[in-house]
Amino acid sequence: MHHDLVAALDIGGTKIAGALVDGDGALFARVLRPTPAQESGERVMAAVSEVLDHLAASPLWPRVDAVGIGSAGPVDARNGTVSPVNIPGWRDHPLVDGVRRSTGTLPVTLVGDGVAMTAAEHLVGAARGHRSALCLVVSTGVGGGLVLDGRLHPGPTGNAGHIGHISVALDGESCPCGARGCVERLASGTAIARHAHAGGWRPRPGQDAGAAGVAAAAREGDPVATAAYTRAARALAAAISATAALVEIEVAVIGGGVAGAGEALFAPLRTALEDFATLSFVRGLTVVPAATGTDAGLIGAAAASRTLLRQDG
Ligand SMILES: [Zn+2]
Repeated sequence: MHHDLVAALDIGGTKIAGALVDGDGALFARVLRPTPAQESGERVMAAVSEVLDHLAASPLWPRVDAVGIGSAGPVDARNGTVSPVNIPGWRDHPLVDGVRRSTGTLPVTLVGDGVAMTAAEHLVGAARGHRSALCLVVSTGVGGGLVLDGRLHPGPTGNAGHIGHISVALDGESCPCGARGCVERLASGTAIARHAHAGGWRPRPGQDAGAAGVAAAAREGDPVATAAYTRAARALAAAISATAALVEIEVAVIGGGVAGAGEALFAPLRTALEDFATLSFVRGLTVVPAATGTDAGLIGAAAASRTLLRQDG
């Protein structure tokens, strides 16, 4: 019997996904449950256990030798706990212990969802083959992760690379995290839509009122929509340039729903990088869209597990 599969969990504010994942990132026995995010912490944990029970019932389960969790953050990998902003019933929730009740003696690893996405992009996506990369997830929030010296760098608590809460505007809006001028307040899909609405942009009847609708309007040349994307792009460029100056990344990979805006985001982002990434050793930096799509969380939770267990062993 090969022990070549990781039981992977991708836990977010709207869904809990599970699958058995091989070393190439192929998924088997997939399962998806809605997250009862507004219910008690016990109910959310019960939904996780249902996903694990489904996986354990697979005929492939005997090939599983580890469990990898990627969760909305913040997470605390040292204590095995999570406090996802969008799951109020979980504060310092002992997720790893809860998972162990279903999976027995198998080793369990935990990383934040941005780190998981980064592991997926490094294994099979746009960061593949790179020694150093920053991956960003730009959606309702902004998360991320780092590959350094050819390896995933989750940091001691599993949150390293959480670029959404780097401040890029010293006098900017206050952020729910407690700081001010965070990237997330300028570049998330929510922030882009809010900025466009504040400038007077309105969707046409039948058009999306969020960041996707703003992107469509920007592509048609609407100046307010274009300005909202330019502002987001400049915030991202400032944070990416700072990261490049600190750790010499070769590539920044951008995923999440806002990356679906395509050139409405990437064109002003490349322009803004010319303004911010000026030092000789960061000028070669490229920015590319993510390649792994909606399976990134599961592929990455498994890939991160393999990396972490190899480092421990
Ligand atoms: Zn913040």
